[in-house]
Amino acid sequence: MAKAETTMENLISLCKRRGFIFQSSDIYGGLSSCYDYGPLGSDLKKNIKEFWWRWMVQRHEDIVGLDASILMAPQVWEASGHVEGFTDPLVDCKKCKHRFREDLLLDPHKCPDCGGELTESRQFNLMFKTYMGPVEDDASIVYLRPETAQGIYVNFPNVVKSTRQRVPFGIAQIGKAFRNEITTENFIFRTREFEQMEMQFFVKPGTDMEWFEKWKQDRIDYYKALNIRPEKLRFHQHGPDELAHYAADAFDIQYEFPFGWKELEGIHNRTDFDLSRHEKFSGKDLAYYDDLTKEKFIPYIIETSAGADRTVLTVLADAYEEQQLEKDSRTVMHFAPEIAPVKAGVFPLVKKDGLPEIAHEITDKLRPHYQVFYDEGGAVGRRYRRQDEIGTPYCITVDFQTKEDETVTIRERDSMEQVRVKIPELRNWLFEKINNRLDSNS
Ligand code: ATP
Repeated sequence: MAKAETTMENLISLCKRRGFIFQSSDIYGGLSSCYDYGPLGSDLKKNIKEFWWRWMVQRHEDIVGLDASILMAPQVWEASGHVEGFTDPLVDCKKCKHRFREDLLLDPHKCPDCGGELTESRQFNLMFKTYMGPVEDDASIVYLRPETAQGIYVNFPNVVKSTRQRVPFGIAQIGKAFRNEITTENFIFRTREFEQMEMQFFVKPGTDMEWFEKWKQDRIDYYKALNIRPEKLRFHQHGPDELAHYAADAFDIQYEFPFGWKELEGIHNRTDFDLSRHEKFSGKDLAYYDDLTKEKFIPYIIETSAGADRTVLTVLADAYEEQQLEKDSRTVMHFAPEIAPVKAGVFPLVKKDGLPEIAHEITDKLRPHYQVFYDEGGAVGRRYRRQDEIGTPYCITVDFQTKEDETVTIRERDSMEQVRVKIPELRNWLFEKINNRLDSNS
Protein backbone atom coordinates (compact mmCIF):
# COMPACT_ATOMS: atom_id res chain seq x y z
CA MET A 1 0.00 0.00 0.00
CA ALA A 2 1.35 3.45 -0.91
CA LYS A 3 2.02 5.52 2.16
CA ALA A 4 0.22 8.78 2.85
CA GLU A 5 2.43 11.79 2.09
CA THR A 6 3.60 13.98 4.88
CA THR A 7 3.39 17.74 5.24
CA MET A 8 6.24 20.12 6.01
CA GLU A 9 4.48 21.04 9.29
CA ASN A 10 4.58 17.41 10.47
CA LEU A 11 8.21 17.05 9.47
CA ILE A 12 9.38 20.29 11.05
CA SER A 13 7.52 19.50 14.24
CA LEU A 14 9.06 16.01 14.46
CA CYS A 15 12.51 17.46 13.76
CA LYS A 16 12.23 19.88 16.65
CA ARG A 17 10.48 17.53 19.06
CA ARG A 18 12.95 14.67 18.66
CA GLY A 19 16.09 16.74 18.22
CA PHE A 20 16.87 16.44 14.53
CA ILE A 21 16.94 20.12 13.54
CA PHE A 22 16.58 23.39 15.48
CA GLN A 23 16.42 27.01 14.37
CA SER A 24 19.83 28.66 14.74
CA SER A 25 20.22 31.01 17.73
CA ASP A 26 16.78 29.94 18.95
CA ILE A 27 16.96 31.75 22.31
CA TYR A 28 17.54 35.05 20.46
CA GLY A 29 14.48 34.57 18.28
CA GLY A 30 16.35 32.61 15.61
CA LEU A 31 18.49 33.64 12.64
CA SER A 32 16.44 33.33 9.50
CA SER A 33 17.36 30.49 7.14
CA CYS A 34 20.07 29.12 9.45
CA TYR A 35 19.58 25.79 11.16
CA ASP A 36 21.40 23.65 13.70
CA TYR A 37 21.45 19.87 13.59
CA GLY A 38 20.58 18.43 17.01
CA PRO A 39 21.72 15.14 18.59
CA LEU A 40 19.84 12.93 16.13
CA GLY A 41 20.15 15.26 13.12
CA SER A 42 23.91 15.55 13.42
CA ASP A 43 24.23 11.76 13.38
CA LEU A 44 21.80 11.50 10.46
CA LYS A 45 23.71 14.09 8.44
CA LYS A 46 27.10 12.58 9.31
CA ASN A 47 25.83 9.14 8.25
CA ILE A 48 24.54 10.55 4.95
CA LYS A 49 27.91 12.14 4.23
CA GLU A 50 29.67 8.90 5.14
CA PHE A 51 27.32 6.93 2.87
CA TRP A 52 28.07 9.31 0.00
CA TRP A 53 31.81 9.08 0.65
CA ARG A 54 31.68 5.30 0.76
CA TRP A 55 29.62 5.21 -2.44
CA MET A 56 31.72 7.73 -4.39
CA VAL A 57 35.27 7.44 -3.05
CA GLN A 58 35.69 4.10 -1.31
CA ARG A 59 33.86 2.07 -3.95
CA HIS A 60 35.70 3.66 -6.88
CA GLU A 61 39.36 3.00 -7.46
CA ASP A 62 39.44 5.99 -9.79
CA ILE A 63 38.12 8.59 -7.33
CA VAL A 64 40.15 10.28 -4.59
CA GLY A 65 39.12 12.67 -1.82
CA LEU A 66 39.95 16.28 -1.05
CA ASP A 67 39.17 18.74 1.74
CA ALA A 68 39.94 22.26 0.47
CA SER A 69 39.68 25.44 2.50
CA ILE A 70 36.60 27.64 2.41
CA LEU A 71 38.61 30.82 1.80
CA MET A 72 40.50 30.83 -1.50
CA ALA A 73 42.53 33.33 -3.50
CA PRO A 74 40.07 35.95 -4.86
CA GLN A 75 41.38 35.36 -8.41
CA VAL A 76 39.75 31.92 -8.26
CA TRP A 77 36.33 33.58 -8.33
CA GLU A 78 37.30 35.89 -11.16
CA ALA A 79 38.47 32.95 -13.24
CA SER A 80 35.36 30.92 -12.42
CA GLY A 81 33.08 33.77 -13.50
CA HIS A 82 31.49 34.17 -10.06
CA VAL A 83 32.62 37.78 -9.44
CA GLU A 84 31.09 38.86 -12.71
CA GLY A 85 28.16 36.55 -13.15
CA PHE A 86 27.09 34.68 -10.01
CA THR A 87 24.00 36.81 -9.68
CA ASP A 88 20.27 36.44 -9.35
CA PRO A 89 17.72 39.02 -10.52
CA LEU A 90 16.41 40.92 -7.48
CA VAL A 91 13.09 42.79 -7.40
CA ASP A 92 11.55 44.82 -4.56
CA CYS A 93 7.88 45.39 -3.83
CA LYS A 94 7.25 49.15 -3.83
CA LYS A 95 4.43 48.72 -1.30
CA CYS A 96 5.43 46.08 1.31
CA LYS A 97 9.19 46.30 0.58
CA HIS A 98 9.58 42.49 0.42
CA ARG A 99 12.30 41.19 -1.89
CA PHE A 100 12.07 38.40 -4.43
CA ARG A 101 14.10 36.48 -6.98
CA GLU A 102 12.45 37.52 -10.24
CA ASP A 103 13.04 34.21 -12.02
CA LEU A 104 11.10 32.33 -9.29
CA LEU A 105 7.98 34.53 -9.55
CA LEU A 106 4.90 33.41 -11.46
CA ASP A 107 4.05 37.03 -12.33
CA PRO A 108 7.21 39.21 -12.57
CA HIS A 109 5.19 42.45 -12.16
CA LYS A 110 3.05 41.66 -9.13
CA CYS A 111 4.14 41.13 -5.50
CA PRO A 112 3.08 37.62 -4.42
CA ASP A 113 2.71 38.82 -0.79
CA CYS A 114 0.56 41.98 -1.18
CA GLY A 115 -0.15 42.36 -4.90
CA GLY A 116 1.86 45.61 -5.02
CA GLU A 117 3.96 46.83 -7.94
CA LEU A 118 7.51 45.45 -8.28
CA THR A 119 10.63 47.41 -9.18
CA GLU A 120 12.72 46.68 -12.28
CA SER A 121 15.07 43.80 -11.55
CA ARG A 122 18.74 44.34 -10.79
CA GLN A 123 21.49 41.75 -10.64
CA PHE A 124 22.52 40.80 -7.10
CA ASN A 125 25.80 38.92 -6.50
CA LEU A 126 25.29 35.95 -4.20
CA MET A 127 28.83 35.70 -2.85
CA PHE A 128 29.47 36.55 0.81
CA LYS A 129 32.40 38.93 1.10
CA THR A 130 34.74 39.30 4.04
CA TYR A 131 38.22 40.70 4.71
CA MET A 132 41.45 38.83 5.29
CA GLY A 133 43.69 40.39 7.94
CA PRO A 134 43.20 43.52 10.03
CA VAL A 135 42.63 46.08 7.27
CA GLU A 136 39.24 46.25 5.64
CA ASP A 137 40.11 47.52 2.17
CA ASP A 138 39.55 46.33 -1.40
CA ALA A 139 42.92 44.58 -1.48
CA SER A 140 41.97 42.30 1.41
CA ILE A 141 38.57 41.11 0.11
CA VAL A 142 38.05 37.36 0.18
CA TYR A 143 34.88 35.39 -0.44
CA LEU A 144 33.24 32.53 1.41
CA ARG A 145 33.17 29.90 -1.33
CA PRO A 146 29.78 29.65 -3.06
CA GLU A 147 30.56 26.09 -4.22
CA THR A 148 33.14 23.46 -3.35
CA ALA A 149 33.95 22.66 -7.00
CA GLN A 150 36.60 25.35 -7.51
CA GLY A 151 38.74 23.91 -4.69
CA ILE A 152 38.84 20.71 -6.72
CA TYR A 153 39.73 22.36 -10.05
CA VAL A 154 42.65 24.36 -8.68
CA ASN A 155 44.02 21.24 -6.99
CA PHE A 156 43.88 19.16 -10.20
CA PRO A 157 47.65 19.48 -10.89
CA ASN A 158 48.51 18.73 -7.23
CA VAL A 159 46.44 15.56 -7.27
CA VAL A 160 47.86 14.42 -10.63
CA LYS A 161 51.40 14.89 -9.33
CA SER A 162 50.88 13.37 -5.89
CA THR A 163 48.81 10.27 -6.74
CA ARG A 164 49.01 7.62 -9.42
CA GLN A 165 45.63 8.57 -10.86
CA ARG A 166 45.44 8.93 -14.63
CA VAL A 167 42.67 10.60 -16.64
CA PRO A 168 39.86 9.47 -16.50
CA PHE A 169 39.61 9.91 -12.74
CA GLY A 170 37.63 11.90 -10.20
CA ILE A 171 38.14 14.09 -7.14
CA ALA A 172 35.44 14.21 -4.47
CA GLN A 173 34.84 16.61 -1.64
CA ILE A 174 32.27 17.39 1.01
CA GLY A 175 32.19 20.85 2.53
CA LYS A 176 30.38 24.04 3.39
CA ALA A 177 29.34 26.57 0.77
CA PHE A 178 27.71 29.97 1.25
CA ARG A 179 25.29 31.87 -0.96
CA ASN A 180 23.60 35.09 -0.01
CA GLU A 181 20.32 33.85 -1.48
CA ILE A 182 17.72 36.59 -2.05
CA THR A 183 15.00 34.39 -0.64
CA THR A 184 15.38 31.25 1.39
CA GLU A 185 12.62 28.67 1.44
CA ASN A 186 11.19 25.48 2.76
CA PHE A 187 13.10 24.75 5.95
CA ILE A 188 16.60 23.42 5.05
CA PHE A 189 15.87 23.22 1.29
CA ARG A 190 17.41 26.60 0.44
CA THR A 191 19.60 28.24 3.05
CA ARG A 192 22.49 30.69 2.94
CA GLU A 193 24.96 28.30 4.54
CA PHE A 194 24.86 24.71 3.37
CA GLU A 195 26.99 21.70 2.62
CA GLN A 196 27.73 20.21 -0.77
CA MET A 197 28.89 16.72 -1.72
CA GLU A 198 30.62 17.10 -5.06
CA MET A 199 32.58 14.86 -7.39
CA GLN A 200 34.39 16.23 -10.43
CA PHE A 201 35.40 13.59 -12.98
CA PHE A 202 38.20 14.52 -15.41
CA VAL A 203 37.96 12.87 -18.84
CA LYS A 204 39.47 13.04 -22.29
CA PRO A 205 37.48 15.31 -24.66
CA GLY A 206 35.31 13.19 -26.92
CA THR A 207 34.60 10.65 -24.18
CA ASP A 208 32.65 13.18 -22.10
CA MET A 209 29.10 12.26 -23.11
CA GLU A 210 29.75 8.58 -22.44
CA TRP A 211 30.93 9.43 -18.91
CA PHE A 212 28.07 11.84 -18.47
CA GLU A 213 25.56 9.01 -19.10
CA LYS A 214 27.47 6.69 -16.79
CA TRP A 215 27.40 9.17 -13.92
CA LYS A 216 23.72 9.95 -14.44
CA GLN A 217 22.93 6.28 -13.97
CA ASP A 218 25.29 5.88 -11.02
CA ARG A 219 23.80 8.83 -9.19
CA ILE A 220 20.21 7.56 -9.57
CA ASP A 221 21.36 4.15 -8.32
CA TYR A 222 22.88 5.89 -5.30
CA TYR A 223 19.54 7.42 -4.26
CA LYS A 224 17.84 4.07 -4.67
CA ALA A 225 20.50 2.47 -2.44
CA LEU A 226 19.69 5.20 0.05
CA ASN A 227 16.14 3.72 0.05
CA ILE A 228 14.55 6.77 -1.63
CA ARG A 229 11.36 5.64 -3.38
CA PRO A 230 12.14 5.49 -7.13
CA GLU A 231 8.76 7.00 -8.10
CA LYS A 232 9.73 10.14 -6.19
CA LEU A 233 12.88 10.66 -8.27
CA ARG A 234 13.16 11.96 -11.81
CA PHE A 235 15.62 13.59 -14.19
CA HIS A 236 15.08 17.09 -15.48
CA GLN A 237 17.19 18.15 -18.45
CA HIS A 238 18.18 21.82 -18.59
CA GLY A 239 16.71 23.58 -21.60
CA PRO A 240 18.75 26.17 -23.55
CA ASP A 241 17.50 28.98 -21.26
CA GLU A 242 18.57 27.14 -18.07
CA LEU A 243 21.93 25.82 -19.26
CA ALA A 244 24.91 27.53 -17.60
CA HIS A 245 27.34 29.21 -20.00
CA TYR A 246 30.03 26.59 -19.29
CA ALA A 247 27.85 23.50 -19.68
CA ALA A 248 27.40 21.31 -22.76
CA ASP A 249 24.61 19.36 -21.09
CA ALA A 250 23.01 19.31 -17.66
CA PHE A 251 20.48 17.20 -15.82
CA ASP A 252 19.03 17.72 -12.38
CA ILE A 253 17.94 14.83 -10.24
CA GLN A 254 14.68 16.06 -8.77
CA TYR A 255 12.74 14.75 -5.79
CA GLU A 256 9.04 15.26 -5.20
CA PHE A 257 9.13 17.19 -1.92
CA PRO A 258 5.88 18.07 -0.08
CA PHE A 259 6.20 21.45 -1.89
CA GLY A 260 6.67 19.95 -5.36
CA TRP A 261 9.38 18.56 -7.67
CA LYS A 262 12.68 20.32 -6.93
CA GLU A 263 16.38 19.88 -7.62
CA LEU A 264 18.30 17.60 -5.31
CA GLU A 265 21.47 17.21 -7.34
CA GLY A 266 22.96 18.63 -10.53
CA ILE A 267 24.93 16.57 -13.07
CA HIS A 268 26.78 18.75 -15.54
CA ASN A 269 29.10 18.33 -18.48
CA ARG A 270 31.29 21.39 -17.81
CA THR A 271 33.53 20.86 -20.87
CA ASP A 272 37.07 22.25 -20.54
CA PHE A 273 35.73 25.59 -19.31
CA ASP A 274 37.04 25.43 -15.74
CA LEU A 275 40.61 24.27 -16.34
CA SER A 276 40.97 26.56 -19.38
CA ARG A 277 39.87 29.57 -17.35
CA HIS A 278 42.21 28.73 -14.46
CA GLU A 279 45.03 28.20 -16.95
CA LYS A 280 44.36 31.64 -18.39
CA PHE A 281 44.05 33.45 -15.06
CA SER A 282 46.90 31.67 -13.21
CA GLY A 283 49.30 31.48 -16.14
CA LYS A 284 50.01 27.81 -15.18
CA ASP A 285 49.89 24.95 -17.66
CA LEU A 286 46.92 22.85 -16.57
CA ALA A 287 46.88 20.50 -19.55
CA TYR A 288 47.14 16.78 -18.84
CA TYR A 289 49.88 14.77 -20.51
CA ASP A 290 49.06 11.14 -21.13
CA ASP A 291 52.44 9.40 -21.12
CA LEU A 292 51.02 6.24 -22.70
CA THR A 293 49.36 7.82 -25.73
CA LYS A 294 51.69 10.88 -25.73
CA GLU A 295 48.65 13.13 -26.01
CA LYS A 296 48.27 16.45 -24.23
CA PHE A 297 44.85 17.96 -23.58
CA ILE A 298 42.74 20.00 -21.18
CA PRO A 299 40.37 17.48 -19.60
CA TYR A 300 36.62 17.87 -19.78
CA ILE A 301 34.84 17.71 -16.46
CA ILE A 302 31.69 15.80 -15.53
CA GLU A 303 30.32 17.15 -12.28
CA THR A 304 27.92 15.55 -9.81
CA SER A 305 26.87 18.11 -7.22
CA ALA A 306 24.51 17.20 -4.41
CA GLY A 307 23.44 19.16 -1.35
CA ALA A 308 24.00 17.38 1.98
CA ASP A 309 21.26 19.37 3.70
CA ARG A 310 18.89 18.84 0.79
CA THR A 311 19.60 15.12 1.03
CA VAL A 312 18.75 15.25 4.73
CA LEU A 313 15.43 16.89 3.86
CA THR A 314 14.79 14.32 1.10
CA VAL A 315 15.56 11.44 3.42
CA LEU A 316 13.33 12.88 6.17
CA ALA A 317 10.42 13.51 3.79
CA ASP A 318 10.77 10.14 2.11
CA ALA A 319 11.13 8.18 5.34
CA TYR A 320 8.22 9.71 7.25
CA GLU A 321 5.07 7.66 7.66
CA GLU A 322 2.08 7.77 9.98
CA GLN A 323 0.84 4.20 10.04
CA GLN A 324 -2.50 2.97 11.23
CA LEU A 325 -1.97 -0.44 12.84
CA GLU A 326 -4.62 -2.92 13.96
CA LYS A 327 -4.87 -1.63 17.52
CA ASP A 328 -3.04 1.68 17.47
CA SER A 329 -0.98 3.93 15.23
CA ARG A 330 2.67 4.83 14.95
CA THR A 331 4.91 7.40 13.30
CA VAL A 332 7.81 5.62 11.68
CA MET A 333 10.88 6.88 9.85
CA HIS A 334 11.96 4.29 7.27
CA PHE A 335 15.63 5.35 7.13
CA ALA A 336 18.07 3.05 5.34
CA PRO A 337 19.91 1.25 8.18
CA GLU A 338 23.27 2.82 7.22
CA ILE A 339 22.04 6.34 7.82
CA ALA A 340 19.70 5.79 10.79
CA PRO A 341 21.06 7.90 13.68
CA VAL A 342 20.49 5.09 16.20
CA LYS A 343 21.08 1.57 14.93
CA ALA A 344 19.57 -0.38 17.81
CA GLY A 345 17.48 0.14 20.91
CA VAL A 346 18.32 -2.25 23.76
CA PHE A 347 15.55 -3.00 26.26
CA PRO A 348 15.24 -5.21 29.31
CA LEU A 349 11.68 -6.59 29.30
CA VAL A 350 11.34 -5.67 33.00
CA LYS A 351 13.43 -3.58 35.36
CA LYS A 352 14.33 -6.52 37.63
CA ASP A 353 15.51 -10.15 37.82
CA GLY A 354 18.92 -9.33 36.35
CA LEU A 355 17.52 -8.36 32.91
CA PRO A 356 18.78 -4.70 33.04
CA GLU A 357 22.30 -5.96 33.81
CA ILE A 358 22.31 -8.20 30.73
CA ALA A 359 20.87 -5.38 28.59
CA HIS A 360 23.58 -3.00 29.85
CA GLU A 361 26.27 -5.55 29.01
CA ILE A 362 24.90 -5.83 25.45
CA THR A 363 24.76 -2.03 25.11
CA ASP A 364 28.37 -1.70 26.27
CA LYS A 365 29.55 -4.35 23.80
CA LEU A 366 27.77 -2.72 20.84
CA ARG A 367 28.49 0.91 21.69
CA PRO A 368 32.05 1.08 20.26
CA HIS A 369 30.67 -0.09 16.90
CA TYR A 370 27.19 1.35 16.69
CA GLN A 371 25.11 4.18 18.07
CA VAL A 372 22.77 2.26 20.40
CA PHE A 373 20.20 3.42 22.93
CA TYR A 374 19.40 1.76 26.25
CA ASP A 375 15.80 2.21 27.38
CA GLU A 376 14.02 0.63 30.32
CA GLY A 377 11.22 3.20 30.70
CA GLY A 378 7.57 2.19 30.20
CA ALA A 379 5.97 -0.74 28.36
CA VAL A 380 8.02 -2.37 25.60
CA GLY A 381 5.36 -1.31 23.04
CA ARG A 382 5.92 2.33 23.96
CA ARG A 383 9.67 1.91 23.75
CA TYR A 384 9.27 0.48 20.24
CA ARG A 385 7.17 3.52 19.24
CA ARG A 386 9.81 5.96 20.48
CA GLN A 387 12.47 4.19 18.40
CA ASP A 388 10.18 3.90 15.35
CA GLU A 389 9.70 7.65 15.40
CA ILE A 390 13.44 8.27 15.12
CA GLY A 391 13.96 5.49 12.57
CA THR A 392 15.91 2.97 14.66
CA PRO A 393 15.97 -0.15 12.47
CA TYR A 394 16.37 -2.77 15.22
CA CYS A 395 15.20 -3.17 18.80
CA ILE A 396 16.83 -5.81 20.97
CA THR A 397 14.85 -7.08 23.96
CA VAL A 398 16.30 -9.07 26.82
CA ASP A 399 13.58 -11.32 28.33
CA PHE A 400 13.34 -14.31 30.65
CA GLN A 401 14.33 -16.75 27.93
CA THR A 402 17.63 -14.84 27.63
CA LYS A 403 18.68 -16.23 31.02
CA GLU A 404 18.02 -19.76 29.84
CA ASP A 405 19.56 -19.84 26.36
CA GLU A 406 21.53 -16.57 25.86
CA THR A 407 19.19 -15.41 23.09
CA VAL A 408 17.47 -12.04 22.66
CA THR A 409 14.55 -10.90 20.50
CA ILE A 410 15.33 -8.56 17.64
CA ARG A 411 12.36 -6.69 16.24
CA GLU A 412 12.72 -5.14 12.80
CA ARG A 413 11.26 -1.63 12.42
CA ASP A 414 9.43 -1.81 9.08
CA SER A 415 8.01 -5.36 9.10
CA MET A 416 7.79 -5.46 12.93
CA GLU A 417 8.84 -9.10 12.64
CA GLN A 418 10.86 -10.68 15.41
CA VAL A 419 13.70 -13.17 15.40
CA ARG A 420 15.80 -14.67 18.19
CA VAL A 421 19.56 -14.27 18.00
CA LYS A 422 22.29 -15.51 20.34
CA ILE A 423 24.03 -12.70 22.25
CA PRO A 424 27.57 -13.59 21.03
CA GLU A 425 26.27 -13.39 17.42
CA LEU A 426 24.60 -9.98 17.82
CA ARG A 427 27.47 -7.88 16.51
CA ASN A 428 27.90 -9.89 13.31
CA TRP A 429 24.14 -10.07 12.82
CA LEU A 430 23.93 -6.26 12.93
CA PHE A 431 26.97 -5.93 10.66
CA GLU A 432 25.32 -8.12 8.02
CA LYS A 433 22.13 -6.06 8.17
CA ILE A 434 23.64 -2.59 8.41
CA ASN A 435 27.04 -2.50 6.76
CA ASN A 436 26.87 -5.26 4.21
CA ARG A 437 23.96 -3.97 2.17
CA LEU A 438 26.18 -2.18 -0.35
CA ASP A 439 27.59 -5.56 -1.39
CA SER A 440 24.46 -6.24 -3.38
CA ASN A 441 24.43 -2.71 -4.80
CA SER A 442 27.98 -2.49 -6.07
P1 ATP B 1 19.22 27.09 -7.75
O1 ATP B 1 19.09 27.37 -9.21
O2 ATP B 1 18.04 26.37 -7.14
O3 ATP B 1 19.63 28.26 -6.93
P2 ATP B 1 21.64 25.79 -8.46
O4 ATP B 1 21.20 25.12 -9.71
O5 ATP B 1 22.40 27.06 -8.52
O6 ATP B 1 20.39 26.00 -7.51
P3 ATP B 1 23.90 24.20 -7.98
O7 ATP B 1 24.83 25.34 -8.08
O8 ATP B 1 23.82 23.24 -9.12
O9 ATP B 1 22.45 24.74 -7.61
O10 ATP B 1 24.22 23.44 -6.62
C1 ATP B 1 24.35 22.04 -6.52
C2 ATP B 1 23.55 21.51 -5.35
O11 ATP B 1 23.86 22.23 -4.15
C3 ATP B 1 22.04 21.69 -5.52
O12 ATP B 1 21.50 20.62 -6.26
C4 ATP B 1 21.57 21.67 -4.09
O13 ATP B 1 21.42 20.33 -3.62
C5 ATP B 1 22.71 22.33 -3.33
N1 ATP B 1 22.38 23.73 -3.08
C6 ATP B 1 22.59 24.79 -3.91
N2 ATP B 1 22.17 25.94 -3.35
C7 ATP B 1 21.69 25.61 -2.12
C8 ATP B 1 21.13 26.35 -1.04
N3 ATP B 1 20.98 27.67 -1.09
N4 ATP B 1 20.74 25.68 0.07
C9 ATP B 1 20.88 24.33 0.16
N5 ATP B 1 21.42 23.59 -0.81
C10 ATP B 1 21.82 24.19 -1.94
